[in-house]
Amino acid sequence: MNTKLEILEFPDKRLRKTSVPVKTFNSELKQLAEDMLITMYQSMGIGLAAPQVNHRIRLIVIDISEERNEPMVFVNPEIENSSGEVESSEGCLSVPDIKTEVNRFESIEIRAKKLDGEEFHMKIDGLLSICVQHEIDHLDGKLFIDYVSEIKLERLRKKIIKDKKALNLEKQTKPDYLI
Ligand code: ZN
Repeated sequence: MNTKLEILEFPDKRLRKTSVPVKTFNSELKQLAEDMLITMYQSMGIGLAAPQVNHRIRLIVIDISEERNEPMVFVNPEIENSSGEVESSEGCLSVPDIKTEVNRFESIEIRAKKLDGEEFHMKIDGLLSICVQHEIDHLDGKLFIDYVSEIKLERLRKKIIKDKKALNLEKQTKPDYLI
């Protein structure tokens, strides 16, 4: 798929680097966030982190709305508090064809900055909470498949090969959402 920005895919080593905090809130940062949103919409994802498009900075974009018209941008996001546990079925734009269950915090309190540098706090739960946790993992070089045991991952890989053979990939492995 041709997207505005190229999305790095597993096992690309660049996805494993830790991203650095944003210090300069300039027009370049705004442009990158805009391009990331376009890329996310083009690939039907609900979230995208800067390292996925080869920018090693702590910037994420998200839109979980049905109409795809509620873009959110988080700069230097940090989880300050968390509670509860929820199992989410996740896919990732950087790990095509794999879908698996991951345990996440049910609700989190985060602190982040807007594109103009202004700080804000938010208490979030549901899909938005899952999405933010998945994206912050990207900023730390972590992928959702890291939560899965090698044995299960191998099983998933075999299933993908089988599904592909059956030309049934779309139906069998399409995740609920891509983050
Ligand atoms: Zn992802």
